[in-house]
Amino acid sequence: MPELPSVEVICRGLQQHLPGLRVLQITTGSKKLRLPMPRKDLAAYIRGARIKAVDRRAKFLLITMDNGAQLIIHLGMTGRLGIFPKDCPKAKHDHFHLHLDNSTQLIFNDIRRFGFIQVHPPGLDFCHTMLANLGPEPFGQDFTPQHLQKMAAGKNRPLKNFLMDNRVVVGIGNIYACEILFHAGLNPNKRVCSLTKKQWTEIVKSSRYVLEKAIKSGGTTISDFVNESGKSGYFQLELQTYGRQGKPCGCCATPINKITMGGRSTFFCPKCQK
Ligand SMILES: [Zn+2]
Repeated sequence: MPELPSVEVICRGLQQHLPGLRVLQITTGSKKLRLPMPRKDLAAYIRGARIKAVDRRAKFLLITMDNGAQLIIHLGMTGRLGIFPKDCPKAKHDHFHLHLDNSTQLIFNDIRRFGFIQVHPPGLDFCHTMLANLGPEPFGQDFTPQHLQKMAAGKNRPLKNFLMDNRVVVGIGNIYACEILFHAGLNPNKRVCSLTKKQWTEIVKSSRYVLEKAIKSGGTTISDFVNESGKSGYFQLELQTYGRQGKPCGCCATPINKITMGGRSTFFCPKCQK
C-alpha cells in the first residue's frame, strides 16, 4: 500500500504539471472502485474547471479547482497515477481519465480497486467529509510531544498501534511505524501511558526524519513521472527493520525480531528498542 512518502512524492510530481490546466473532458470506467464514482459531481464541478492547486492531506490527494471544488483521490492498495499524452491507448485497470487542455491526460489505474475518486463540491465544509477527524500531519506544527502526551494520557495501548492511529497522527502506516520506532530506539509494544516527554520528543523527531528521508529518496523519480506509467511504490526504500527478520540490526547486529501486533507484521531490534 502506498504510504505517506509515496503519496507526497506523487503530489509533488502533480504540482509540477497540473496547476493552470483546464479539464476538458472526463472519462470513467464501468468497474466499481471502493466508493462509487461521483459521475454527476464530476460533470458539474470538475469538467470545464481550471486546476488551481494540488495538495496532500494524510494519504488523500486533493486537486483544487478554480471554482472551489476539490477532486479527492485515494490510491488504496494498488492505485497509480500518471500523466500521459492524450492519444495514449487505454490500459487494463485504467478507471479514470482527466483530459487536460495541454494535450495530456491524468490517468488513475488500480488493479485491486481499493482506491477511489470523490468530489468535494465548492463551499461545503470539510467537517462533512471523510477528511474530518483526522489528526495532525507529521510535518505540521500541531504534531508535537505535548499533543502525543495528551492523546496517550491514561491509555494502555501499544506504541506502534497508537502511532498508526489517524486520530493521533495521519499517514504513518505499518512500514514507517516500524522504521520510526527503530530510529527512536523504542519498543513497539511499549505502553503509551509510560512514555516520557523526552521519548515523545524523540518520536516526533524520528517521524519527521524517517518520512523526509523516504520522500527525498522518492523525489529523484519525479522526472520520470510524466512518461512512465505511474509507479506508486516506485522507490527502493532503505529499510532498517521492515521485512528483515533474522537479519542483523544495522546498529548492534542482533537479529531483527518479527512479531504480530494488531494483525500486522512488526519488526524491531530487541536490543536497541527498549
Ligand atoms: Zn540493534
